[in-house]
Amino acid sequence: MNETAPAANFIRTIITDDLQSGRRQQVVTRFPPEPNGYLHIGHAKSICLNFGLATDFAGRCHLRMDDTNPEKESVEYAEAIKEAVRWLGFDWGEHLFYASDYYEQLYQWAEELIRTGKAYVDSLSAEEVRQYRGTLTEPGRESPYRSRSVAENLDLFRRMRRGEFADGAHTLRAIIDVTSPNLNLRDPVLYRIQRVPHYRTGDAWCIYPMYDFAHPLSDAIEGITHSICTLEFEDHRPLYDWFIANCSVPARPQQIEFARLNLTYTVMSKRKLLELVTGRHVGGWDDPRLPTLVGMRRRGYPPAAIRTFCERIGVGKTDSLIDMGVLEECVRDDLNRSAPRAMAVLRPLKVVVENFPADEVEQFEVANHPGDPALGSRKVPFTREIFIEQDDFLETPPKGFFRLFPGGEVRLRGAYILRCEQVVRDGDGQISELRCSIDPATRGGANPPGRKIKGTIHWVSAPHALEAEVRLYDRLFTVANPGGEKGRDFKELLNPDSLQVLTGCRLEPGLAAVDGGSRQFERLGYFCRDQDSTAERLVFNRTVTLRDSWVAKGGSDSGVAG
Ligand code: ATP
Ligand code: MG
Repeated sequence: MNETAPAANFIRTIITDDLQSGRRQQVVTRFPPEPNGYLHIGHAKSICLNFGLATDFAGRCHLRMDDTNPEKESVEYAEAIKEAVRWLGFDWGEHLFYASDYYEQLYQWAEELIRTGKAYVDSLSAEEVRQYRGTLTEPGRESPYRSRSVAENLDLFRRMRRGEFADGAHTLRAIIDVTSPNLNLRDPVLYRIQRVPHYRTGDAWCIYPMYDFAHPLSDAIEGITHSICTLEFEDHRPLYDWFIANCSVPARPQQIEFARLNLTYTVMSKRKLLELVTGRHVGGWDDPRLPTLVGMRRRGYPPAAIRTFCERIGVGKTDSLIDMGVLEECVRDDLNRSAPRAMAVLRPLKVVVENFPADEVEQFEVANHPGDPALGSRKVPFTREIFIEQDDFLETPPKGFFRLFPGGEVRLRGAYILRCEQVVRDGDGQISELRCSIDPATRGGANPPGRKIKGTIHWVSAPHALEAEVRLYDRLFTVANPGGEKGRDFKELLNPDSLQVLTGCRLEPGLAAVDGGSRQFERLGYFCRDQDSTAERLVFNRTVTLRDSWVAKGGSDSGVAG
């Protein structure tokens, strides 16, 4: 699914070596989300990587719900994850799996570890387990229950499963090395008792496997060859390998770590995103200001732009913070090529064209895209009363102002050269309308003979205009790394101006029929219709602001920058 040839990276090198040396015959990767929240742009990096590698090496990629933590998981999240992966453009085919489907097999491997003397039932409390574990500078101590017999361990573990003990009364722990410098190897917990119904297994289980135990074994069950995860799991790799080595698994997957994606001016942890949603700091998981894929979809980000972004940032081993601008540039590049143009006025100022007949409608044929004739053209009506942008008129213009001012002239995009004859004010002294005239010799926007009009502005015919609400978005946070501000709650750093709602905006009539895709509103940015729109009330989101390279290259006359 990559838009360009995939760039080399260390994981591709490992896989190529594995295939060339014959160590692996095929490539099987997986994307293993926990269904405890909606996917975000960080997950997209992992999805593009895992599904991309499978495609490039003619292998397959599984979608696995890593659902071993019943308290926080739900069907709603699992369904949203599937929808998001599909929307991004990837297909798991028949390879949809659930760690919860492996509970019985995982349980059998736990008994195997007990029988081989590699696991025991511990009866320390959670607090005691923590104390016994020691710290980075202090070795752990063995639990007094570590020397229980195999028979006693098997009996206790089976009774744990049967529900004979209270939550927290016992755990199953591996017997590895309590003095290991790697804390993950100090007899990690494999199972805990938790009387919580699971969204898939209901109350069939009251013991649940820990992630570190379930993950490598789930990979092995599915025949995953390359188990790609983020860097924070590097210290867990010896444990991953220990389970693969000590359980009678059917395959030997290899864990490979890469640097997670971090983006400026946002947060990516699901816990923090959930806090923003439940605390009503945003409208929901699909709030267009969030880095969630549902949010970006609603905002109008094309999935291809997100894939390009993931390709562009590359795959490495060093954590970094990527500028949000890089993502926005990918969105802009995509939309600049693909989005049809339209005219809309966000802050309308009424213009009466005094020398144009009141009952006449003139239709101008306007190209939908300055660089792509295949996108065709449309008819745009012109009448005696039009709206222009308030910003495009100044009573006392500074030098170099090429838009409208009293006595000045400007080009109405695709229509006529307009001259401002008179400014009309209301009782409060506010400008209520402009009285203007057109030069009939400039039909279609041509320059008058012997003169060149520099400024071009957009406009909408007043009687034809659709009224709409337009939502403009800014950064969600006021600082680049809101998660990294020591001693400050990240919610204090929210940008109070991240959402600006404009009402009474006027759109050209063709936008009534607009589909899900984004449009360029000339000189204003890219916009898409929001799901809040109804037959009576249109709502548009600004996807991203404009920097139109077609204009920069002289590809069209679509005007001075707003
Ligand atoms: P969080 O810490 O926000 O809860 P998570 O990593 O626990 O995220 P999972 O559902 O377990 O969320 O993630 C599924 C997969 O996506 C994992 O393989 C994880 O490594 C990967 N992933 C999560 N966040 C990022 C990120 N920011 N960049 C790249 N990959 C990520
Ligand atoms: Mg996780």
